[in-house]
Formats: sequence, structure tokens, C-alpha cells
Amino acid sequence: MNKEWAEKNKRMQSLIGKEASFREGLDVLFELRDELIGLVSSIVYTFPAEAFYQMPFPGAEGYHSKTLAYSMWHIFRIEDIVAHTLIAQDEQVLFTDGWLEKTKSPIITTGNELKGTEIASFSERLDVKAVCEYCRAVMNSTNELLRKLEYRDLKRKFTDEDRERLIGSHCVSTDEDAFWLIDYWCGKDIRGLIQMPFSRHWIMHIEAMCRIKNKLCRKARKGADPIAYCGLSCAHCFLKEWCGGCRTAYNACSDAKNAPDGICPNTACCREKGMDGCWECEDMTGCRKGFYAYDDINAIKAMALFVRKYGKKELAAVLDRLHQQYHFEKIQEVLGEDLEQGLAILEQNR
Ligand code: SF4
Ligand code: SF4
Repeated sequence: MNKEWAEKNKRMQSLIGKEASFREGLDVLFELRDELIGLVSSIVYTFPAEAFYQMPFPGAEGYHSKTLAYSMWHIFRIEDIVAHTLIAQDEQVLFTDGWLEKTKSPIITTGNELKGTEIASFSERLDVKAVCEYCRAVMNSTNELLRKLEYRDLKRKFTDEDRERLIGSHCVSTDEDAFWLIDYWCGKDIRGLIQMPFSRHWIMHIEAMCRIKNKLCRKARKGADPIAYCGLSCAHCFLKEWCGGCRTAYNACSDAKNAPDGICPNTACCREKGMDGCWECEDMTGCRKGFYAYDDINAIKAMALFVRKYGKKELAAVLDRLHQQYHFEKIQEVLGEDLEQGLAILEQNR
């Protein structure tokens, strides 16, 4: 399990276990959930539609055998059912504000009953951005419910009547891979439910989503030109697990993420001009677009200048050498802030 998330989860559990630190524990829980949903959103808003119904680990043991879209649906359907039908005994978020129609889901259940390719077909039918909005709506609604809890509520247990209400909601399939959930939830008290499904369940599925997206990125990257339009090298990038590269549909580069259309300004501009990279552009020296807008990262422009003089292969070779000599993540850590200085360091390492 991701160490940082696991530690935060452990801290939250310990804090909510004592009356004096109960509220602080809830704040840690909200912080963890915020971080995790931020990760989900960044996947949704940078990856192409096809990514959400791929199963890069079909038949594997574990949550990574599913799809990105299924994982989102499953985490938040379970939370919605538990928070509203079991705990609050009110209406689930899915049945308010037209979420069922907006998400285009053919099912109202948790999805546990879906097998093999049914998972991919179901995922393909979903409107992923709407599912992501639904996830946020569920999270906010659960947070509100948790904020209203008192420390003494943590010991609240569930009854046969609660069990029957869950069955009657028809939100858990009678399939044996799903129906067990009802007894599982009803066997816990509220403190147990805060762990599963409100925190640990998220962590496990979102970690699986990371495995799925990393595999998709690696696949997309195969055969793609690793030198980015701006001069960065995707093959040497510390984010290469996360991002498929700007010459693929799996571009999650920082400037792409910040752009409203998900395309980095250097990439968009080069494509519009029919250029292989900014090094082909006569306006490059004075350009302030995308990665060239930051005074302290002239290193990227220095690499584009280097490509203009010596070519992409030579840049890749110099970067290999620099990575052998130094331990660094961002190229400016080695090339510095100045354009001429950065170019000179690259040339010295030819
Ligand atoms: S973050 Fe940018 S440089 Fe890194 S792999 Fe993605 S497109 Fe390439
Ligand atoms: S104007 Fe700037 S971003 Fe566009 S191709 Fe030229 S150097 Fe690249």
C-alpha cells in the first residue's frame, strides 16, 4: 500500500479512536480523501476516453484486474449505499440531481456481480466525467454526514431491519460475488465503516487505478518519439510512470493538465504549425508559451536549442550521460536557470 496514504490512514484511525482527538481524526480523513479524489480527477481530465474501459491486467488477482471507470463507480456506489441507505437512512446521491441519467450507468448496483468482459462493456457505456462529478458529490455528502457524527456514534451497530433495508434497495446484486457485502457492512459499527469503505477501500482501489494507468502509459509510450515538442525528454522524465508522453493520447504533463483542453501550449502550437518541435520554430528564442513561460526553467528551452544544433538522438545521449553522473529529477537541477549556461552544460557533455 502507498506508504504515505497508509500512514495517514493509520493516524486517522488512531485519532478518531479517542474522544479528545475525534474531530482531528475526521480532519485527517477529509484530507486523505481530498488527496485521493484529486488523483482520480487528474486521471479523468487528462487521459483519453478509451483509457477508462481498458483492462490491462485481465484475470489478475486483485483490484487492478478491473477498469479505471469501474473502479470509480464501484468505490463511490459502495460509499453512497453505505452512507445513505445504511447509516443516514435517507436517499442515495445517485437518485438525486439526475446522477443516474448523467452517468449513463445501466446499473444501480456496486458492480461486484460483473465478470470479465462485462466490466469493460459496462465501463464503455459510462460518461466518465459525469461519474467523476458523481464521485465528488458522494464524497461531499458523506463528509457532511461524518461531520455531524459524535464520538459516541462510532459504536453504533446495525440491525436486521438495516439489513432488510439494504436488500430492499436492490443496490446490491443477489449474485454471490456481491450479496456478501450486506452482511459484511452490517457486521461493522460506524468506526469499522469509516475504515471500510470510507478510507481503506478508497486507497486499495485508487492504488489499483494507478497500476492500471501506469500500464496504459507504458503501452502508449512504446514506439512514440520520446523527445517532447518543448525539448524535454519523456524517456528521462521523472513522471514517465504517470504520463504517456505528449506525443500520445496519455499526456499528463503539468502544462497539459493546466490547459483547459488538456493539451500543453507548446504541443498545440507545434501541431498547428506542423512542426516536429519548438527547435524548428524561428520564434523560439523569445517565445513565452507553455514551458517557456517560466524564468527559472530555461533548461527546457536550452534542450530545444541543443536539438536545433545537434539533433534529438544527441540530446538523448547527453541526458543518458547526465543521469549516470548526477541524481536528479528535474533537468533544471543540473542545467541551472540560465539559457546559455544550460546549453553550455549540454554541449560539454556531448
Ligand atoms: S510529463 Fe512531460 S516530459 Fe514527462 S513524460 Fe509527460 S510529456 Fe514527457
Ligand atoms: S511559438 Fe513557441 S511554442 Fe510555438 S512552436 Fe514556436 S517556440 Fe514552440
